[in-house]
Amino acid sequence: MPHRLRYPLHDTLPMPGQTLQVAAGVHWLKMPLPFALNHINLWLLEEQAGWCAVDAGYDSADTRALWEQHFGGSMGGRPLTRVVATHYHPDHIGLADWLATRFDAAFHASLGEIALAKAVWHDLPGHDVAALNRHFALHGLPEAKQAQYAERGNTYHWGVKSLPVTFNRILAGDVLRLGGSDWLAIPGYGHSPEHMALYCADKGVLIAGDMLLPKISTNVGVWGGEPDGDPLRQFLASLDRFLHLPEDTLVLPSHGRPFVGIQPRVAALKAHHDERLAAMLAAMDGPMTAYELLPALFGRMFDLYQTMFALAECIAHLNYLWHGGKLVRRRDADGCHRFSIAP
Ligand SMILES: [Zn+2]
Repeated sequence: MPHRLRYPLHDTLPMPGQTLQVAAGVHWLKMPLPFALNHINLWLLEEQAGWCAVDAGYDSADTRALWEQHFGGSMGGRPLTRVVATHYHPDHIGLADWLATRFDAAFHASLGEIALAKAVWHDLPGHDVAALNRHFALHGLPEAKQAQYAERGNTYHWGVKSLPVTFNRILAGDVLRLGGSDWLAIPGYGHSPEHMALYCADKGVLIAGDMLLPKISTNVGVWGGEPDGDPLRQFLASLDRFLHLPEDTLVLPSHGRPFVGIQPRVAALKAHHDERLAAMLAAMDGPMTAYELLPALFGRMFDLYQTMFALAECIAHLNYLWHGGKLVRRRDADGCHRFSIAP
């Protein structure tokens, strides 16, 4: 029987525009998101000369207004000295440039994250909407839906109006000195190219970003820039890096409540993906496209935005089974990839 997660803060949450201290010198902020997933957690670390922000929030008028409240309120008028992004997704990096520019603060991220952020932001070939549509067309997305994506354009710009021009590179295994403590950069792959979680042994705290969430499973998708990739295998392998952290580590996730229980959460995530993989194999009824298999993986219909992530995640599960020898893939005369059980 797996151990359940513990939530040491119970139902205590930071109020909008206020912070809640979760460990010595570590403060929790909640910011809104305009999606079904309606919030992101950010972290402020007390530094000698001001504050370090870990993740910045999605660029919206609401989030900017809340940051303004923090500047004069919870931050006591002290400046941001550093901004760290765990990864390039808009809810994490969206306001990094705005914050860093305003305070002339140093910006830190991994090269993989900043490189992909710039590729997507600047619509580079392979990372633009046309590439997304070509990729999804190979996996059976109907033309009408492709037209909707084309019309919608680059959604990355919705939450990221600008990106920092320069950055300070975080490498896997680096130790960042933040707020008088050492924070170990633990890389994670599969959700984004080079996600960095930060672990502080002194405080017994892991800032997990999106790699370990208490309730929802992290999105793991195959996108147009690396269509034959195997990010699910990378994600599952990355989870093992957290297993040797102490059992009583307080995990600070980007979505949901802080929790204790890395080991049971990793076990549950692995079991979840095993179940999804088994469901896909069971649903395979002759050669099928990823789009045809979407109901087997998720069992429900999605709006346009959710379909994008669901289809990318479906392809990630198929590529995992394909690279693992459980499925074969063929390209049919209609241009679509179809998967079937390996003989
Ligand atoms: Zn993310």
